Amino acid sequence: MALIVQKYGGTSMGTPERILNVARRVKRWHDHGHQVVVVVSAMSGETNRLLGLAKAITESPDPRELDQMVSTGEQVTIAMLAMALKSLGVSARSCTGGQVGIRTDKSYTKARIQSIDADGMHRDLNNGMVLIVAGFQGVDEDGNITTLGRGGSDTTGVALAAALKATECQIYTDVDGVYTTDPRVAPKASKLDRITFEEMLEMASLGSKVLQIRSVEFAGKYQVPLRVLSSFDEGQDGAFDAHWQQTTGTLITTELDSTMEQPIISGIAFNRDEAKLTVLGVPDQPGVALSLLAPISDANIEVDMIVQNVAEDGTTDFTFTVNRSEFKKALSILQETGKAINAREVSGSDSIVKVSIVGVGMRSHAGVATRMFRSLAKENINIQMISTSEIKISVVIDENYLELAVRSLHTEFELDRESGESSVHG
Ligand code: ASP
Ligand code: MG
Repeated sequence: MALIVQKYGGTSMGTPERILNVARRVKRWHDHGHQVVVVVSAMSGETNRLLGLAKAITESPDPRELDQMVSTGEQVTIAMLAMALKSLGVSARSCTGGQVGIRTDKSYTKARIQSIDADGMHRDLNNGMVLIVAGFQGVDEDGNITTLGRGGSDTTGVALAAALKATECQIYTDVDGVYTTDPRVAPKASKLDRITFEEMLEMASLGSKVLQIRSVEFAGKYQVPLRVLSSFDEGQDGAFDAHWQQTTGTLITTELDSTMEQPIISGIAFNRDEAKLTVLGVPDQPGVALSLLAPISDANIEVDMIVQNVAEDGTTDFTFTVNRSEFKKALSILQETGKAINAREVSGSDSIVKVSIVGVGMRSHAGVATRMFRSLAKENINIQMISTSEIKISVVIDENYLELAVRSLHTEFELDRESGESSVHG
């Protein structure tokens, strides 16, 4: 018997029929003798609808009242799911965040969970009850309702799993797992059976949007095994055979022990929302990086990669990337600073992308970067910038070569799906 926390997103809770489907799935787990806590999102579109209503009243709604309001979407779905389970003869109870003791700080709309009262939940679970908990919400010490930020139900799921010491936290969604890369870009993308927290964080922050990043950080910190799986694939958890834990969905977990063979590269992430800015011929003196980048960050523009060239004739060159939506703003700021510090030239491009290979296997293998560069060279793809971390190598290239780059790297690092393996759902 295991204690499982299952989280269902807005799409899975999108209609009464789907909610009944979720109830049938929960019942199967319960019938198999597992203790189940279910965390749900609001019906898809509902949180946006509520936010829209608030905006129709005032441009800047009071944060307390906003949380009071947007948290109601989940209150509807917990009750619906509880009704559905009871109609199937399962003992179940719906609970708001406050009712299961999810205590947060007072930062409305982006609150952080401080504590959870696990004892009460264990009592109910031991009595055979299924608990259905509203995602995305908690209460502060004065009983005010708070919310955890958009997509926050993932975090609720992970936090409950950590507090209850659950066997795993299952995130049911509209894809059947985490893929080596986006199958729309590389049709041979394959589902990963497992990936480490670290790798998932790199994949997530680089643009794979399966999970809220904060929930992965949280899961890594508290070592909560996290499984991503499809809420539409009936066969997927139907088997409950000895192997389901090895093959169902994608398990995000700690690193495999070193006796097991693991791939060097687990996935390829890319980001189309990038733009690069370059300053040429900057006087090479202490403080130039500061004087170039401070005005950018003062304007609240986030800088991603930064490259400074070796100085030759007393001047140096700088290139950095920002989000594409901030390109024009960043460029005009940089033109100003460029003039002020006597730079030779300021230029930029918003038709670039970042492609990254990610894998903990890099730590123990040499020559991974060489393999990457050779593979891109073979396709005649010019690399404009490079940056590396312990488990990631990123390159900036022309956006026209995105597909080609991802596909050739996918093949180079042996990630292509073998024919016969199941293909992508949805
Ligand atoms: N309903 C909330 C949102 O749409 C929380 C969630 O779905 O995770 O952001
Ligand atoms: Mg979500």
